[in-house]
Amino acid sequence: MAFRQLRNPALRTVAFLFILFFFFGCGGTSRAVKKQAWYQSGILLPVSANKLAGKRIVLDPGHGGKFSGAVGSAGLKEKDINLTVTYHLKKLLEREGAIVFLTRDTDRDFLTERTEHVREDLRNRMALVDSLHPDFFLSIHHNSSALKPPENNTKTFYKIDDAGASLDAAASIHRSFVRFLKIEEQHLQGANYFVLWNASAPAVLGEPSYISHPEMESVLSHDSALQVEAFAYFNGILEWLSNGLPKIASLHLADSSDKIIEATVASDIPLNPFLCQIQSDGKALSTYLNDKTLFALSPKPLCNGKHLIRIEMSNVRGNSAFLHAETLLVNRPPASITLSLSRCSGIAGQVIPISLMVLDRYGLPVIDSLDVEMINGKEKIISKTRGGEVRFYPYGQKIGMITPMFNCMGIQKSCTLFVEKDGPIFQQAMILGSDSKPIDHALILTSNKRLNSDANGFFEYLRTENDSLANIFAIGYSDSMLYVNNDIFVNEIRLTPLFNGDLHGKRIVLDPEFGGLEFGGINATGYRACDINQKLAVQLKGRLLAAGADVVMTRQNDESIQVSERIKKAAEPIVADIYIIIRSDSLISMPYISFYPTSKFGPKLAEFLKTSLYNIIPGIKSIEDIGYALQQTPCTAVCVSLNPLQGYGNGGRQSDNSILEAQANGLVNGLNEFINYLKSQK
Ligand SMILES: [Zn+2]
Repeated sequence: MAFRQLRNPALRTVAFLFILFFFFGCGGTSRAVKKQAWYQSGILLPVSANKLAGKRIVLDPGHGGKFSGAVGSAGLKEKDINLTVTYHLKKLLEREGAIVFLTRDTDRDFLTERTEHVREDLRNRMALVDSLHPDFFLSIHHNSSALKPPENNTKTFYKIDDAGASLDAAASIHRSFVRFLKIEEQHLQGANYFVLWNASAPAVLGEPSYISHPEMESVLSHDSALQVEAFAYFNGILEWLSNGLPKIASLHLADSSDKIIEATVASDIPLNPFLCQIQSDGKALSTYLNDKTLFALSPKPLCNGKHLIRIEMSNVRGNSAFLHAETLLVNRPPASITLSLSRCSGIAGQVIPISLMVLDRYGLPVIDSLDVEMINGKEKIISKTRGGEVRFYPYGQKIGMITPMFNCMGIQKSCTLFVEKDGPIFQQAMILGSDSKPIDHALILTSNKRLNSDANGFFEYLRTENDSLANIFAIGYSDSMLYVNNDIFVNEIRLTPLFNGDLHGKRIVLDPEFGGLEFGGINATGYRACDINQKLAVQLKGRLLAAGADVVMTRQNDESIQVSERIKKAAEPIVADIYIIIRSDSLISMPYISFYPTSKFGPKLAEFLKTSLYNIIPGIKSIEDIGYALQQTPCTAVCVSLNPLQGYGNGGRQSDNSILEAQANGLVNGLNEFINYLKSQK
């Protein structure tokens, strides 16, 4: 369809709305994909320069000082032309009233005396950017590669976890590059470059052309070319901001039973109610827009505890807000205490299990760890809520009646219990793990029963004569045993977590390279790289699962899978914590762990893995690696090549499973050390 040929304005509006629904309305594809389609559709909306007035824009000419960036074959340095483009762009933006800041306006770097590493430079650069509180951050670069024949294309990158405003800005700049530079091949994509990852505003990194392409280098050596690039950026930013930049001004809990969250929005262009969504803990809530206030509606109020709230919204011109994510704490005071006694009586000489629920005014469980006091005669015991539930175990000393009293923040309740001579004995206990967290789905095996603990870690069973022992198993914990007899009543069982519990719940993606027809080379004893990789991945997976981690494999079988499909596993449906490529290198004969140089934690993880493997693989190195998968993975990522096909180990050793087992052990230990390190950073 040729939209620009529709002369009738009303028809054009209909066509525009149609496109809006077409690209944004369907649920299947991701926002990023829809937006990519949007930029390709080539719709031009009216621009208005005054939308730039007062906008805080930080321009970052890439590299500088000690870091030249790419250098062309005729000697043109990237750091210099990046700076010139920045100068030109600054003038254009300021003329329209924007408030422009530069990370550098001279040939300098951001190193301190402490270290000379590029990460230190980038860290200091981004600290400066953050302190300027920008509305938009743009890092200006030129690309290079060693490919023959030399390549030249236009690439525009956006902050990978913001398919909202960052993608809008990138799409608009990209469209402008395409229009003004007319370089044949073009890519608009998300990236996790350090400067994008660490930006707290919509962020774009531009690589409009290749300095390593000799003809392009000679074009770029003329100021007029750099002026055109600057103008292309300017035009893209202008088009983007002309369509408004909605923002969340404030976010709080709404104090009514049906409206549960209230967000006030700052937006000069009306919001599109179809494209506004509030999510709580990953679940979309029904969202209602009233002028500049966005409400999340729900038949039920939010439950007590912490909730991760994410807001996505777009205005009627299709421009989105920067990703907004914030944790809200719901903590309504207790309003009632109810007793949930499975048996209203106890047995003399036994403890009497009492369970009660502490509820808020909506009848929902109160927040965890509230103190509840029980007064039973002279006995005073404090226990804490967990999922609203509290348990006490008073002792039924003699036959008769006891009347314990309960109190939680002034809300009181009493009950009457009858202590009888004899009756069935129920064995009850709570299974707790690290940080006293209840463990659900633990397996309890007695002489003739098999049961699981519930969501509160609780289990109970009717005891028979010969039940004196129960075995307890839980994933991620050491096995344990419960000895029972009529004199000792155990009500809490604490399990020892494997690896301190640091790997519990961590999502780790294992990517054994190659598979199917692409087997990645063969070693001296006939083993294929894809099989060695798979065998090591399986060993590692088993150990990680046992340690409580959540493991995803990019391939289960001997099958061929594209790299882009593999790295998707690190992002969807949720972003993983760690991504590990398992490789048997066919070119580099030294075992290594590699990482993308400017990724956030990649170098650190590589260091920990290297250290823990050093005993079994002396001489293992950690090296920088600018491979596509490591660059594009939106989480901490490394590649481990422990069994190179040539040289080290001379191949044949992989026939011995114990080698792979030792390697898997080393990797689990290193991962554990790394997670421990992350905890110490918080
Ligand atoms: Zn660069």
